[in-house]
Amino acid sequence: MRNSEVLIIGGGVIGLSIAREMHKIGAGRITIIERGSIGREASFAAAGMLAPNAETDKIDDFYNFCAESNRLYPDFAAALLDETGIDIELDRSGTLYLAFTGDDSIELKKRFDWQTSAGLAVEHLNTRETLTAEPFISPNVRESLFFPNDWQVENRKLLEALRKYSEINGIRIREGTEIREILTAGEKVIGAASDSEKFLAGTTIIATGAWTSLIKIGEMPVSVKVKPIRGQMISFHPREKLFKRVIYSSRGYLVPRADGRILAGSTVEDVGFDKSTTETGVSALRCVASEIAPCLAGMTISDKWAGLRPYADDGLPVIGEIAGFKNLIISTGHYRNGILLAPFTAKIVAERNTGFLRRSLSGPPAIAGG
Ligand SMILES: Cc1cc2nc3c(=O)[nH]c(=O)nc-3n(C[C@H](O)[C@H](O)[C@H](O)COP(=O)(O)OP(=O)(O)OC[C@H]3O[C@@H](n4cnc5c(N)ncnc54)[C@H](O)[C@@H]3O)c2cc1C
Repeated sequence: MRNSEVLIIGGGVIGLSIAREMHKIGAGRITIIERGSIGREASFAAAGMLAPNAETDKIDDFYNFCAESNRLYPDFAAALLDETGIDIELDRSGTLYLAFTGDDSIELKKRFDWQTSAGLAVEHLNTRETLTAEPFISPNVRESLFFPNDWQVENRKLLEALRKYSEINGIRIREGTEIREILTAGEKVIGAASDSEKFLAGTTIIATGAWTSLIKIGEMPVSVKVKPIRGQMISFHPREKLFKRVIYSSRGYLVPRADGRILAGSTVEDVGFDKSTTETGVSALRCVASEIAPCLAGMTISDKWAGLRPYADDGLPVIGEIAGFKNLIISTGHYRNGILLAPFTAKIVAERNTGFLRRSLSGPPAIAGG
């Protein structure tokens, strides 16, 4: 039986970021329990885009949550570099959103008009301007929008940095240990248990991503419903650097990394806990990549992988206390935006007396701040 002040179940970007933030505000004896290896699930599979604006058509709690987390990234990246020596490659070159069809142009115009009137930063580029900005884009492009505040980060370096932060600062990490049950004593949560061990804790935090609904609280399944949504990705590694920034279309995206790789993503598939890549998925991604940049049509695919996004009932994150249980916090359901939302999620969980956690979660999942 092991005692901790804070027990975090799940070592993805959410669990690791919470551990760091908890340590910063002075929590002692923090333990992270991870079923497999730290940072090898959705957080590893992600494309690392920090894109609050490119797909936004309204300002609501979710947009504000995304935008606030994005604003934290420059300081988050600088602090992690200082703390761990690892550069998480925050790239602030912006994102280009392309239109190839009449429907794409209608969507972009609507977004441009609305975002401009809402005071958000967005620029319109015609074909010539788009091709000047990114010469390897297809000449079939009709126009594009440039979002200067949509960035990217190398999520695998981010995971490395967060892990190193834990190691340097005495946060205990236990890998290869699957938590089955949250332990209760009356209304109070006192820790969690695997098949063979108990981990007692003052505060227990569930950050188990797509697997959250498999955990039990006592005899009952956890009341928050989360399901896995598979995303497949491919990458290319051309000899020269082809793109300067993230490039989107309504059918997919390209993310150029500092090491020369270009990631192309991603599928959105409701297929259970199946993390395999498929021929259909890979060829759909090849099509998206070729539409954006014909030079990728014949290029060798250097890697392919898939991950499981945590999708809660309404697609919004679920962050808060679970009604009826003291000392238990849940932080899951970050779906397509967990990398973007990690720094702010960690803050609102660690500083849990803020308004963001005032509402406890009983029935339907709520979004932080909502
Ligand atoms: C293909 C793809 C592309 C994406 N692109 C982006 C993007 O560009 N930008 C962005 O912001 N987001 C993106 N996302 C979404 C993002 O990756 C997720 O929202 C985020 O990684 C969720 O983090 P997490 O820590 O909750 O989940 P995970 O990284 O999956 O971590 C959860 C961890 O909990 C562990 N665990 C589960 N159950 C237990 C248990 N019972 N006991 C112990 N450990 C357990 C798991 O093994 C896992 O390591 C993408 C996702 C995918 C799949």
